[in-house]
Amino acid sequence: MRVLLVGAGGREHALAWKIAQSPLCEHLWIVPGNPGTATLGTNVDLAADDAAGIVGLATREQIDLVVVGPEAPLVEGLGEVCEAVDLAMFGPSSEAAQLEGSKAFAKMIMLEAGVPTAAAHTFDDPAAAIAFVEADQQAWVVKADGLAAGKGVIVPDDGNVAATISAIHELAATNAGTRLVLEEKLTGPEVSLLALCDGERAIPLIAAQDHKRIGDNDTGGNTGGMGSYAPAPILPYAEAQALVDVIFTPVLRTMAARQIPYRGVLYAGLMLTPNGVKVIEFNARFGDPETQALLPLLKSDLLELLHKVATSNLADVTIEWHDGAAVCVVLSAAGYPAKPRTGDVITGLDRLPSDVLSFQAGTATNAQGQLVTAGGRVLGITAVAPTLREARDKAYAATELVEFAGKYQRSDIAARGLAE
Ligand code: AMP
Repeated sequence: MRVLLVGAGGREHALAWKIAQSPLCEHLWIVPGNPGTATLGTNVDLAADDAAGIVGLATREQIDLVVVGPEAPLVEGLGEVCEAVDLAMFGPSSEAAQLEGSKAFAKMIMLEAGVPTAAAHTFDDPAAAIAFVEADQQAWVVKADGLAAGKGVIVPDDGNVAATISAIHELAATNAGTRLVLEEKLTGPEVSLLALCDGERAIPLIAAQDHKRIGDNDTGGNTGGMGSYAPAPILPYAEAQALVDVIFTPVLRTMAARQIPYRGVLYAGLMLTPNGVKVIEFNARFGDPETQALLPLLKSDLLELLHKVATSNLADVTIEWHDGAAVCVVLSAAGYPAKPRTGDVITGLDRLPSDVLSFQAGTATNAQGQLVTAGGRVLGITAVAPTLREARDKAYAATELVEFAGKYQRSDIAARGLAE
Protein backbone atom coordinates (compact mmCIF):
# COMPACT_ATOMS: atom_id res chain seq x y z
CA MET A 1 0.00 0.00 0.00
CA ARG A 2 1.10 3.53 -0.79
CA VAL A 3 0.10 5.59 2.23
CA LEU A 4 -0.27 9.34 2.81
CA LEU A 5 -0.35 10.49 6.43
CA VAL A 6 -1.58 14.01 7.26
CA GLY A 7 -0.21 15.88 10.29
CA ALA A 8 2.99 17.03 11.95
CA GLY A 9 2.94 16.16 15.66
CA GLY A 10 4.07 13.43 18.01
CA ARG A 11 0.90 11.51 17.24
CA GLU A 12 1.80 11.48 13.55
CA HIS A 13 5.41 10.45 14.25
CA ALA A 14 4.01 7.52 16.28
CA LEU A 15 1.52 6.64 13.52
CA ALA A 16 4.28 6.85 10.90
CA TRP A 17 6.56 4.66 13.03
CA LYS A 18 3.91 1.95 13.31
CA ILE A 19 2.62 2.21 9.71
CA ALA A 20 6.17 1.97 8.32
CA GLN A 21 6.65 -1.36 10.15
CA SER A 22 3.76 -2.96 8.28
CA PRO A 23 4.72 -5.46 5.57
CA LEU A 24 1.78 -3.97 3.65
CA CYS A 25 3.45 -0.55 3.49
CA GLU A 26 5.17 0.04 0.16
CA HIS A 27 5.91 3.72 0.84
CA LEU A 28 4.78 6.43 3.21
CA TRP A 29 4.37 10.16 2.48
CA ILE A 30 3.72 12.61 5.32
CA VAL A 31 2.06 16.04 4.88
CA PRO A 32 3.81 18.09 6.21
CA GLY A 33 5.47 15.78 8.78
CA ASN A 34 8.44 16.74 10.97
CA PRO A 35 12.13 15.77 11.15
CA GLY A 36 11.11 12.55 12.95
CA THR A 37 8.70 11.39 10.26
CA ALA A 38 11.33 12.24 7.61
CA THR A 39 13.31 9.20 8.82
CA LEU A 40 10.34 6.92 8.05
CA GLY A 41 9.02 8.23 4.73
CA THR A 42 8.88 11.27 2.48
CA ASN A 43 7.78 14.56 4.02
CA VAL A 44 5.87 16.78 1.58
CA ASP A 45 5.73 20.51 2.20
CA LEU A 46 1.98 21.08 2.01
CA ALA A 47 -0.30 22.36 4.77
CA ALA A 48 -2.41 19.75 6.56
CA ASP A 49 -5.53 21.75 5.63
CA ASP A 50 -4.66 22.01 1.91
CA ALA A 51 -7.26 19.49 0.73
CA ALA A 52 -6.72 20.22 -2.97
CA GLY A 53 -2.94 19.84 -2.58
CA ILE A 54 -3.35 16.58 -0.69
CA VAL A 55 -5.66 15.06 -3.29
CA GLY A 56 -3.32 16.22 -6.07
CA LEU A 57 -0.38 14.51 -4.34
CA ALA A 58 -2.45 11.38 -3.75
CA THR A 59 -3.38 11.19 -7.41
CA ARG A 60 0.21 11.77 -8.60
CA GLU A 61 1.66 9.18 -6.24
CA GLN A 62 -1.19 6.67 -6.70
CA ILE A 63 -1.94 6.63 -2.97
CA ASP A 64 -4.04 3.73 -1.70
CA LEU A 65 -4.91 5.12 1.72
CA VAL A 66 -4.93 8.60 3.29
CA VAL A 67 -4.62 8.62 7.11
CA VAL A 68 -5.55 11.85 8.88
CA GLY A 69 -4.03 12.64 12.29
CA PRO A 70 -5.39 16.03 13.46
CA GLU A 71 -9.02 17.13 13.74
CA ALA A 72 -8.95 20.39 11.74
CA PRO A 73 -8.66 18.82 8.23
CA LEU A 74 -11.47 16.41 9.16
CA VAL A 75 -13.82 19.13 10.39
CA GLU A 76 -12.95 21.15 7.26
CA GLY A 77 -14.06 18.31 4.99
CA LEU A 78 -10.98 16.42 3.75
CA GLY A 79 -13.11 13.25 4.00
CA GLU A 80 -15.63 14.51 1.45
CA VAL A 81 -12.87 15.72 -0.89
CA CYS A 82 -11.24 12.25 -0.82
CA GLU A 83 -14.57 10.50 -1.29
CA ALA A 84 -15.33 12.61 -4.35
CA VAL A 85 -12.28 11.12 -6.08
CA ASP A 86 -12.75 7.61 -4.65
CA LEU A 87 -9.70 7.81 -2.42
CA ALA A 88 -9.84 5.61 0.69
CA MET A 89 -9.37 7.71 3.81
CA PHE A 90 -9.02 6.83 7.48
CA GLY A 91 -11.01 9.50 9.31
CA PRO A 92 -14.63 10.67 9.48
CA SER A 93 -16.44 13.02 7.11
CA SER A 94 -16.86 16.63 8.26
CA GLU A 95 -20.43 15.91 9.30
CA ALA A 96 -19.41 12.89 11.36
CA ALA A 97 -16.46 14.83 12.82
CA GLN A 98 -19.05 17.15 14.39
CA LEU A 99 -18.94 14.69 17.28
CA GLU A 100 -15.75 16.61 18.10
CA GLY A 101 -16.39 19.86 16.23
CA SER A 102 -19.63 20.70 18.04
CA LYS A 103 -20.26 19.89 21.68
CA ALA A 104 -23.97 20.63 21.17
CA PHE A 105 -24.10 18.09 18.31
CA ALA A 106 -22.24 15.48 20.38
CA LYS A 107 -24.65 16.03 23.26
CA MET A 108 -27.66 15.63 20.97
CA ILE A 109 -26.30 12.35 19.54
CA MET A 110 -25.51 11.00 23.02
CA LEU A 111 -29.02 11.79 24.25
CA GLU A 112 -30.56 10.18 21.18
CA ALA A 113 -28.29 7.12 21.54
CA GLY A 114 -28.90 6.80 25.30
CA VAL A 115 -25.21 7.18 26.09
CA PRO A 116 -24.51 8.19 29.73
CA THR A 117 -23.30 11.77 29.86
CA ALA A 118 -23.67 14.94 31.95
CA ALA A 119 -26.99 16.80 31.77
CA ALA A 120 -26.61 19.89 29.59
CA HIS A 121 -28.33 22.92 28.10
CA THR A 122 -27.32 24.65 24.88
CA PHE A 123 -27.68 28.42 24.32
CA ASP A 124 -27.31 30.44 21.12
CA ASP A 125 -26.91 33.63 23.06
CA PRO A 126 -24.71 34.28 26.15
CA ALA A 127 -27.40 36.50 27.69
CA ALA A 128 -29.83 33.58 27.70
CA ALA A 129 -27.19 31.37 29.36
CA ILE A 130 -26.64 34.01 32.05
CA ALA A 131 -30.38 34.38 32.65
CA PHE A 132 -30.61 30.60 33.05
CA VAL A 133 -27.79 30.49 35.63
CA GLU A 134 -29.19 33.48 37.54
CA ALA A 135 -32.53 31.71 37.87
CA ASP A 136 -31.00 28.31 38.59
CA GLN A 137 -28.36 29.50 41.12
CA GLN A 138 -26.01 26.52 40.57
CA ALA A 139 -22.46 26.24 39.23
CA TRP A 140 -22.24 24.80 35.69
CA VAL A 141 -19.31 23.74 33.53
CA VAL A 142 -19.24 26.19 30.59
CA LYS A 143 -18.17 24.99 27.13
CA ALA A 144 -17.80 26.83 23.82
CA ASP A 145 -19.53 24.79 21.14
CA GLY A 146 -16.85 24.68 18.41
CA LEU A 147 -13.19 23.62 18.19
CA ALA A 148 -11.28 25.81 20.65
CA ALA A 149 -7.83 24.17 20.82
CA GLY A 150 -8.24 23.12 24.44
CA LYS A 151 -9.36 26.60 25.55
CA GLY A 152 -13.10 26.12 25.26
CA VAL A 153 -14.01 24.69 28.68
CA ILE A 154 -14.16 26.38 32.09
CA VAL A 155 -14.92 24.33 35.19
CA PRO A 156 -16.02 26.57 38.12
CA ASP A 157 -15.67 25.53 41.75
CA ASP A 158 -18.65 23.76 43.28
CA GLY A 159 -21.49 26.14 44.02
CA ASN A 160 -19.73 29.15 42.49
CA VAL A 161 -22.52 30.85 40.53
CA ALA A 162 -20.50 34.05 40.02
CA ALA A 163 -17.63 32.02 38.50
CA THR A 164 -20.11 30.33 36.15
CA ILE A 165 -21.35 33.71 34.95
CA SER A 166 -17.85 35.10 34.44
CA ALA A 167 -16.94 31.90 32.55
CA ILE A 168 -19.88 32.57 30.20
CA HIS A 169 -18.61 36.14 29.62
CA GLU A 170 -15.06 34.88 29.06
CA LEU A 171 -15.93 32.13 26.57
CA ALA A 172 -18.41 34.36 24.73
CA ALA A 173 -15.63 36.96 24.34
CA THR A 174 -12.86 34.55 23.27
CA ASN A 175 -15.06 32.43 20.98
CA ALA A 176 -17.18 35.16 19.38
CA GLY A 177 -20.53 34.07 18.02
CA THR A 178 -20.30 30.58 19.43
CA ARG A 179 -23.11 28.67 21.02
CA LEU A 180 -22.48 27.81 24.66
CA VAL A 181 -23.17 24.53 26.40
CA LEU A 182 -23.76 24.52 30.16
CA GLU A 183 -23.04 21.12 31.60
CA GLU A 184 -23.65 19.49 34.96
CA LYS A 185 -20.36 19.27 36.86
CA LEU A 186 -19.23 15.68 37.35
CA THR A 187 -16.50 14.28 39.54
CA GLY A 188 -14.23 11.27 39.27
CA PRO A 189 -11.06 10.09 37.57
CA GLU A 190 -10.80 10.58 33.81
CA VAL A 191 -9.71 8.02 31.26
CA SER A 192 -9.44 8.01 27.47
CA LEU A 193 -11.01 5.15 25.58
CA LEU A 194 -10.47 5.06 21.83
CA ALA A 195 -12.22 2.71 19.44
CA LEU A 196 -11.70 1.96 15.77
CA CYS A 197 -15.09 2.39 14.07
CA ASP A 198 -16.06 1.30 10.56
CA GLY A 199 -19.49 2.92 10.47
CA GLU A 200 -21.18 -0.06 12.08
CA ARG A 201 -18.71 -1.90 14.30
CA ALA A 202 -16.35 -0.62 17.01
CA ILE A 203 -13.23 -2.25 18.43
CA PRO A 204 -11.79 -0.57 21.50
CA LEU A 205 -8.11 0.07 22.11
CA ILE A 206 -6.76 -0.35 25.63
CA ALA A 207 -7.59 2.53 27.96
CA ALA A 208 -5.05 5.32 28.44
CA GLN A 209 -4.69 8.35 30.66
CA ASP A 210 -3.15 11.67 29.77
CA HIS A 211 -1.97 14.64 31.85
CA LYS A 212 -3.37 17.92 30.58
CA ARG A 213 -1.98 20.47 33.02
CA ILE A 214 1.54 21.88 32.79
CA GLY A 215 2.40 21.33 36.47
CA ASP A 216 2.79 18.30 38.73
CA ASN A 217 -0.34 17.18 40.58
CA ASP A 218 -2.45 18.63 37.75
CA THR A 219 -1.72 22.27 38.54
CA GLY A 220 -1.21 25.28 36.27
CA GLY A 221 -2.47 25.96 32.77
CA ASN A 222 -3.91 23.53 30.26
CA THR A 223 -1.64 22.04 27.59
CA GLY A 224 -2.07 19.68 24.68
CA GLY A 225 -0.95 16.93 27.08
CA MET A 226 2.28 16.45 29.04
CA GLY A 227 2.42 12.68 29.06
CA SER A 228 0.38 9.51 29.00
CA TYR A 229 0.36 5.88 29.97
CA ALA A 230 -1.42 2.70 28.99
CA PRO A 231 -3.09 0.49 29.94
CA ALA A 232 -4.85 2.62 32.55
CA PRO A 233 -5.33 0.22 35.49
CA ILE A 234 -8.55 2.03 36.39
CA LEU A 235 -10.28 0.63 33.27
CA PRO A 236 -9.19 -2.97 32.58
CA TYR A 237 -9.57 -4.19 28.99
CA ALA A 238 -12.56 -6.41 29.76
CA GLU A 239 -14.41 -3.38 31.15
CA ALA A 240 -13.34 -1.27 28.19
CA GLN A 241 -14.77 -3.92 25.86
CA ALA A 242 -18.04 -3.92 27.79
CA LEU A 243 -18.34 -0.17 27.12
CA VAL A 244 -18.61 -0.84 23.37
CA ASP A 245 -22.28 -1.75 23.86
CA VAL A 246 -22.87 1.22 26.18
CA ILE A 247 -21.11 3.96 24.20
CA PHE A 248 -19.72 3.18 20.78
CA THR A 249 -22.30 0.90 19.18
CA PRO A 250 -25.25 3.14 20.17
CA VAL A 251 -23.44 6.21 18.78
CA LEU A 252 -22.57 4.42 15.53
CA ARG A 253 -26.15 3.25 15.14
CA THR A 254 -27.53 6.75 15.76
CA MET A 255 -25.06 8.32 13.33
CA ALA A 256 -25.82 5.69 10.64
CA ALA A 257 -29.57 6.27 11.06
CA ARG A 258 -28.91 9.96 10.32
CA GLN A 259 -26.98 8.95 7.16
CA ILE A 260 -23.69 10.17 8.66
CA PRO A 261 -21.77 6.94 9.27
CA TYR A 262 -18.72 7.36 11.49
CA ARG A 263 -15.52 5.83 10.11
CA GLY A 264 -12.23 6.44 11.86
CA VAL A 265 -11.13 6.43 15.45
CA LEU A 266 -13.61 7.72 18.00
CA TYR A 267 -12.01 8.95 21.19
CA ALA A 268 -14.26 9.01 24.23
CA GLY A 269 -13.09 11.11 27.18
CA LEU A 270 -14.71 9.34 30.12
CA MET A 271 -15.24 10.26 33.73
CA LEU A 272 -15.69 7.39 36.19
CA THR A 273 -18.25 9.08 38.43
CA PRO A 274 -19.84 7.68 41.60
CA ASN A 275 -22.91 7.11 39.38
CA GLY A 276 -21.04 5.15 36.74
CA VAL A 277 -19.09 5.92 33.58
CA LYS A 278 -20.09 9.12 31.75
CA VAL A 279 -18.83 10.53 28.46
CA ILE A 280 -17.29 13.99 28.90
CA GLU A 281 -16.33 14.55 25.27
CA PHE A 282 -15.71 12.90 21.94
CA ASN A 283 -12.74 13.50 19.69
CA ALA A 284 -12.69 12.44 16.06
CA ARG A 285 -9.01 11.43 16.00
CA PHE A 286 -6.24 9.69 17.90
CA GLY A 287 -5.35 11.47 21.14
CA ASP A 288 -1.94 13.02 21.51
CA PRO A 289 0.01 11.98 23.60
CA GLU A 290 -2.16 8.88 24.29
CA THR A 291 -1.24 7.51 20.86
CA GLN A 292 2.46 7.71 21.75
CA ALA A 293 1.83 5.23 24.59
CA LEU A 294 -0.80 3.08 22.82
CA LEU A 295 0.91 2.28 19.53
CA PRO A 296 4.11 0.80 21.04
CA LEU A 297 1.84 -1.73 22.82
CA LEU A 298 -0.08 -2.66 19.67
CA LYS A 299 0.93 -6.04 18.32
CA SER A 300 -1.50 -6.06 15.36
CA ASP A 301 -0.66 -4.50 12.00
CA LEU A 302 -1.87 -0.89 12.32
CA LEU A 303 -1.95 -0.24 8.58
CA GLU A 304 -4.15 -3.28 8.00
CA LEU A 305 -6.53 -2.07 10.74
CA LEU A 306 -6.68 1.49 9.37
CA HIS A 307 -7.43 0.18 5.88
CA LYS A 308 -10.19 -2.08 7.22
CA VAL A 309 -11.75 0.92 8.99
CA ALA A 310 -11.59 3.05 5.85
CA THR A 311 -13.22 0.29 3.78
CA SER A 312 -15.90 -0.65 6.39
CA ASN A 313 -14.42 -4.08 6.88
CA LEU A 314 -13.95 -4.62 10.62
CA ALA A 315 -16.15 -7.75 10.88
CA ASP A 316 -14.33 -10.56 12.72
CA VAL A 317 -11.28 -8.39 13.39
CA THR A 318 -9.57 -8.61 16.77
CA ILE A 319 -6.75 -6.44 17.99
CA GLU A 320 -3.72 -7.97 19.67
CA TRP A 321 -1.61 -6.24 22.28
CA HIS A 322 1.83 -6.78 23.74
CA ASP A 323 1.94 -7.53 27.45
CA GLY A 324 3.24 -4.83 29.76
CA ALA A 325 2.76 -1.10 29.97
CA ALA A 326 3.94 2.04 28.20
CA VAL A 327 4.70 5.49 29.57
CA CYS A 328 5.21 8.60 27.44
CA VAL A 329 6.82 11.69 29.00
CA VAL A 330 6.54 14.88 26.95
CA LEU A 331 9.49 17.30 26.94
CA SER A 332 8.25 20.85 26.36
CA ALA A 333 9.96 24.08 25.38
CA ALA A 334 10.78 27.07 27.59
CA GLY A 335 7.70 29.28 27.90
CA TYR A 336 5.14 26.56 27.08
CA PRO A 337 2.12 26.73 27.20
CA ALA A 338 1.91 30.55 27.07
CA LYS A 339 4.67 31.42 24.59
CA PRO A 340 7.07 28.60 23.69
CA ARG A 341 10.59 29.62 22.74
CA THR A 342 11.93 28.13 19.50
CA GLY A 343 15.39 27.51 18.08
CA ASP A 344 17.05 25.72 21.04
CA VAL A 345 19.39 22.97 19.84
CA ILE A 346 18.32 19.43 20.83
CA THR A 347 20.98 16.83 21.57
CA GLY A 348 21.12 13.31 22.93
CA LEU A 349 18.45 11.50 20.89
CA ASP A 350 21.25 9.26 19.56
CA ARG A 351 22.10 8.26 23.14
CA LEU A 352 18.66 6.75 23.86
CA PRO A 353 18.64 2.99 24.50
CA SER A 354 17.42 1.03 21.49
CA ASP A 355 14.24 -0.02 23.28
CA VAL A 356 13.19 3.56 24.14
CA LEU A 357 11.23 5.51 21.54
CA SER A 358 11.26 9.23 20.83
CA PHE A 359 8.40 10.80 18.90
CA GLN A 360 9.05 14.31 17.63
CA ALA A 361 6.44 17.07 17.63
CA GLY A 362 7.72 20.66 17.84
CA THR A 363 11.08 20.15 16.14
CA ALA A 364 12.76 21.53 13.04
CA THR A 365 16.15 21.38 11.35
CA ASN A 366 18.06 24.69 11.32
CA ALA A 367 20.34 26.09 8.62
CA GLN A 368 23.31 24.27 10.17
CA GLY A 369 21.45 20.96 10.00
CA GLN A 370 20.92 20.80 13.77
CA LEU A 371 17.68 19.58 15.31
CA VAL A 372 16.06 22.50 17.17
CA THR A 373 12.90 23.23 19.13
CA ALA A 374 10.07 24.61 16.98
CA GLY A 375 6.95 24.33 19.12
CA GLY A 376 5.55 23.92 22.62
CA ARG A 377 5.58 20.16 22.99
CA VAL A 378 8.98 19.32 21.54
CA LEU A 379 9.02 15.52 21.73
CA GLY A 380 7.75 12.54 23.66
CA ILE A 381 9.88 9.78 25.17
CA THR A 382 8.07 6.43 25.39
CA ALA A 383 9.28 3.33 27.19
CA VAL A 384 7.61 -0.09 27.29
CA ALA A 385 8.28 -2.51 30.14
CA PRO A 386 6.64 -5.47 31.89
CA THR A 387 5.11 -3.21 34.57
CA LEU A 388 3.90 0.39 34.68
CA ARG A 389 6.51 1.21 37.34
CA GLU A 390 9.36 -0.12 35.21
CA ALA A 391 8.05 1.69 32.13
CA ARG A 392 7.83 4.93 34.11
CA ASP A 393 11.38 4.55 35.49
CA LYS A 394 12.78 3.66 32.07
CA ALA A 395 11.07 6.63 30.37
CA TYR A 396 12.27 9.07 33.02
CA ALA A 397 15.85 7.72 32.91
CA ALA A 398 15.80 8.27 29.14
CA THR A 399 14.54 11.86 29.44
CA GLU A 400 17.80 12.67 31.24
CA LEU A 401 19.75 11.82 28.08
CA VAL A 402 17.99 14.40 25.90
CA GLU A 403 19.02 18.02 26.31
CA PHE A 404 17.89 21.42 25.11
CA ALA A 405 17.90 24.82 26.81
CA GLY A 406 14.66 25.36 28.70
CA LYS A 407 13.66 21.67 28.61
CA TYR A 408 10.68 21.02 30.91
CA GLN A 409 8.79 17.89 31.85
CA ARG A 410 6.30 16.88 34.53
CA SER A 411 7.77 14.56 37.14
CA ASP A 412 4.55 12.65 37.93
CA ILE A 413 3.50 11.04 34.66
CA ALA A 414 1.74 7.71 35.44
CA ALA A 415 1.74 8.43 39.20
CA ARG A 416 -2.06 8.09 39.26
CA GLY A 417 -1.88 4.72 37.56
CA LEU A 418 0.76 3.53 40.02
CA ALA A 419 -1.36 4.67 42.96
CA GLU A 420 -4.21 2.54 41.65
P1 AMP B 1 -13.54 18.67 27.29
O1 AMP B 1 -12.82 19.54 26.32
O2 AMP B 1 -15.03 18.67 27.12
O3 AMP B 1 -12.95 17.33 27.42
O4 AMP B 1 -13.23 19.30 28.74
C1 AMP B 1 -11.90 19.52 29.18
C2 AMP B 1 -11.76 19.09 30.60
O5 AMP B 1 -12.70 19.81 31.42
C3 AMP B 1 -12.09 17.62 30.84
O6 AMP B 1 -11.00 16.80 30.60
C4 AMP B 1 -12.49 17.63 32.31
O7 AMP B 1 -11.35 17.62 33.14
C5 AMP B 1 -13.18 18.98 32.46
N1 AMP B 1 -14.63 18.78 32.31
C6 AMP B 1 -15.33 18.81 31.15
N2 AMP B 1 -16.63 18.57 31.36
C7 AMP B 1 -16.79 18.40 32.69
C8 AMP B 1 -17.91 18.13 33.53
N3 AMP B 1 -19.14 18.00 33.04
N4 AMP B 1 -17.68 18.01 34.86
C9 AMP B 1 -16.42 18.17 35.38
N5 AMP B 1 -15.34 18.42 34.63
C10 AMP B 1 -15.50 18.54 33.30
